[in-house]
Amino acid sequence: MNSALLSYDEAAAEVAAYAAALGRAKRAVERVELGRAAGRVLARPLRADRDQPPFARSTRDGYACRAAEACRHVLLPVAGATRAGQPPAGRLPRGAAWEIMTGAPVPKGADAVMMLEHVEADGRGVKLLDSRTIAAGENIVPRGAQAGKGEELLAAGSLMGAGQVALAAACGNSELEVFALPRAAILTTGDEVVPVEAEPGPGQIRNSNGPMLAAMTAAVGGEPWVLPTAADAAEALDAALRGIAETDLLLVTGGVSAGKFDLVEPALQRAGAQFHFTGVRIQPGKPTVFGELRGNKGGSEGRQRRRRLPLFGLPGNPVSSAVTFLLFAAPVLAALAGRRDAVPRFAWARLAAEVKGKAGLTRFLPAFCNFGASASALPEVALVPWQGSGDLAALARSNCFLVLPEEAHRLEAGSCVRILLP
Ligand code: AMP
Ligand code: MG
Repeated sequence: MNSALLSYDEAAAEVAAYAAALGRAKRAVERVELGRAAGRVLARPLRADRDQPPFARSTRDGYACRAAEACRHVLLPVAGATRAGQPPAGRLPRGAAWEIMTGAPVPKGADAVMMLEHVEADGRGVKLLDSRTIAAGENIVPRGAQAGKGEELLAAGSLMGAGQVALAAACGNSELEVFALPRAAILTTGDEVVPVEAEPGPGQIRNSNGPMLAAMTAAVGGEPWVLPTAADAAEALDAALRGIAETDLLLVTGGVSAGKFDLVEPALQRAGAQFHFTGVRIQPGKPTVFGELRGNKGGSEGRQRRRRLPLFGLPGNPVSSAVTFLLFAAPVLAALAGRRDAVPRFAWARLAAEVKGKAGLTRFLPAFCNFGASASALPEVALVPWQGSGDLAALARSNCFLVLPEEAHRLEAGSCVRILLP
């Protein structure tokens, strides 16, 4: 019965609480070269190794001056010049200007930089154009304005992207301490599923969930460990689960619905799993299972399995697997990775055309959002036509999922809707 299942919000709250508790746990740290730090999570705060900027810096090519003198529109003799890379000059003499380049240190005494385009120059000096004024502080970033020496620039738990890597470089870090990647074991199941290299026989399909979940795991900040596909048989599933020794997260796909050969839940139970939920009022992804393996059952040769191994049973249909990974597995994986930012990510968009809901289920439908829309309006989102949750081509053509709330029977064109971002 649907009503016995958790709503999306209830299931999401359960996962969020679990992830928050995981986020407080201690985790292993390793050093990586800066060139390999993108996608990793900082284990220690990044601090400024010196004032940023380290000197009062000109943001323009032009002439350093005292703003009050420049505003008199008199000719100011040019007392010297500083290029980027040269050390700071001495003091700017009274009633003079100083030629300066973008990124160069501004001489002491100067409080503004007149842009090259805003002065008249002749052999004797420079003069601010009559049509212009200048105020103290213009075109100068004072020393330490961005950060003082020792100040925290990025907190531990920050996900490293290009900007963060650049900042780390600016602060002299050729290596960084990051959290060890959490490992996600990915166990696909199904008698019909064959490896990508194999030629599928009649009735067989290639394993697309394995590579997809590996890619999604890596994108969140985990290390995928793709296991061989297990057959739809109790012994095969038991053996596969026994083989999962050292991992931080277990993802099983397929075999979690109510069909005759959906044997994953009982197998997990035999392995010692306890469940937080075994279904959510969402579509696709209703049979999703969230639980954990407790104790050391199934660990091989004295290796200690984590005392509590979080696990997800994701429905086998590719769109269902993708949606439920994003909604439920990704927040747990992000917490295991030490990330502090919010996962999953949602945004708002304007609906291009009417969409019908399904009473009693929150729906997450493959959609394409035009993020390059106009400056004054929300980005526009439209459903990608699809043939149901097995439609991988629709998934691959989408760049987000349109969220249809449980209570929405119909969303009109132009309405403001939530989208789930990959
Ligand atoms: P199940 O959740 O096992 O009932 O599977 C639902 C649908 O997903 C079936 O059509 C399966 O063939 C398909 N499926 C299951 N596992 C995979 C996989 N690893 N890759 C692609 N499709 C799959
Ligand atoms: Mg199956």
